Amino acid sequence: MRPLPKPPDHPLVRLSHNVDGVETSATIAIQDRASQLRSEGRRVFKLGLGQSPFPVPGPMVESLRAHAGEKDYLPTAGLPALRAAIAQYHRRKPGIQAEAQDVLVGPGSKELLFLLQVVLDGQVLLPTPAWVSYAPQARILGRRTRYIHTRAEDGWQLSPEALDRACTEHDGPYLLVLNDPSNPTGTSYSPERQREIAAVARAYGVVILSDEIYGELRFDGQHRSIAEDWPEGTILSTGLSKWCGAGGWRLGAFTFPRGLQPVLRAMEAVASETYTTTSAPIQYAAVTAFEGDTFPDWMVTYIEGARRVLARLAAQSAARLRAAGAQVAEPDGAFYLFPDFGPLRQRLAARGIHDAPQLCEQLLLDTGVMCLPGQAFGRPREELTVRLSLVDFDGAAALAQDAALAQDAAGSDALPAIAPVLEAIDRLCAWVVR
Ligand code: PMP
Ligand code: GLU
Repeated sequence: MRPLPKPPDHPLVRLSHNVDGVETSATIAIQDRASQLRSEGRRVFKLGLGQSPFPVPGPMVESLRAHAGEKDYLPTAGLPALRAAIAQYHRRKPGIQAEAQDVLVGPGSKELLFLLQVVLDGQVLLPTPAWVSYAPQARILGRRTRYIHTRAEDGWQLSPEALDRACTEHDGPYLLVLNDPSNPTGTSYSPERQREIAAVARAYGVVILSDEIYGELRFDGQHRSIAEDWPEGTILSTGLSKWCGAGGWRLGAFTFPRGLQPVLRAMEAVASETYTTTSAPIQYAAVTAFEGDTFPDWMVTYIEGARRVLARLAAQSAARLRAAGAQVAEPDGAFYLFPDFGPLRQRLAARGIHDAPQLCEQLLLDTGVMCLPGQAFGRPREELTVRLSLVDFDGAAALAQDAALAQDAAGSDALPAIAPVLEAIDRLCAWVVR
């Protein structure tokens, strides 16, 4: 063999420019930090990561157990029975015509969102506050994003005028990511506003990715999809993570209008070259969650219980925050609040707190309450908004207490299981006004 060259001077690896400045997702990083602090014996209130406090419903767990032996790779687009069940689930809504062939199953809707941005050309439009991973995913892929800021006074809702303006600035095509009910604000779009946004989207040929992962957690059960107004241009996203309490199972699904089949097929091709397919036992178990023309009784009991618990917790938390001086949009779904402490700016500034990251950090150090700054959701750093995930409580106990309340003729009002979150809110309120 001829003599080998001297090892090169340059480093062994060089990271791609696409990941310059990309860090662990804010939601994941805060959970890691919470675990670290707890392991050091600190008392922390985990209002950081947004994961369902409720257990996975029993029949789904049984179904997963029964299918533990399923070991074969499944088709990349998903188990046929699951694709059919998800289509049937969406058809419960008027105006949605999905069939099995329109559904793409994946290991979490987050991964599907990434794949969507891999295969689509054009500009991504993100109304803010926007869930933490939308913009970083686009950035990793080197694609253009355009934030469309919304305002607290408008309940953090995208206005048709703002969408219209954003669409005239650049050439399309456009992908609008709309999250309803919203993480982080816990608010939903009214049917009128949905129709107005859909009209603008139709006019400019904007494809909407309607992220409805919290749809079933609308407190009044009246979730409505913008796909009803713009069926040809709306991709529907759902999954097991939130309303089935199964974030760690990693299962999500996109449902495409028939005219967007090429997008589904391109995503399927990329999936087949990357993760191949979603876990087989999980897909079999997921059929149990979606199948049928209506939910079975056990699912109705579970979801209605979760909605009641979350509604009560959100209303009580929002009231306490308002009493402390924060501005809070009235929540009607999911398990988040997005208070703005702007009205307390002078008070906080006197304590050296001028922006949201400082606010979250000092709050954690002083009180043990963990939350995320509005900046992680695309809001200006100096805006004093934070996201609170109202989830650090025993969801199984809360569901049991809620069920007992319904039977309690004496009209008791107690739901002691949610007390840890209310304690965290009280600590936060006492701290901001101090
Ligand atoms: N969208 C929103 C708004 C979320 O909060 C999350 C967090 N789970 C996701 C999508 C991704 O969910 P998953 O990948 O668990 O389906
Ligand atoms: N969606 C959750 C949140 O916003 C956490 C899970 C995740 O980020 O993937 O906190």
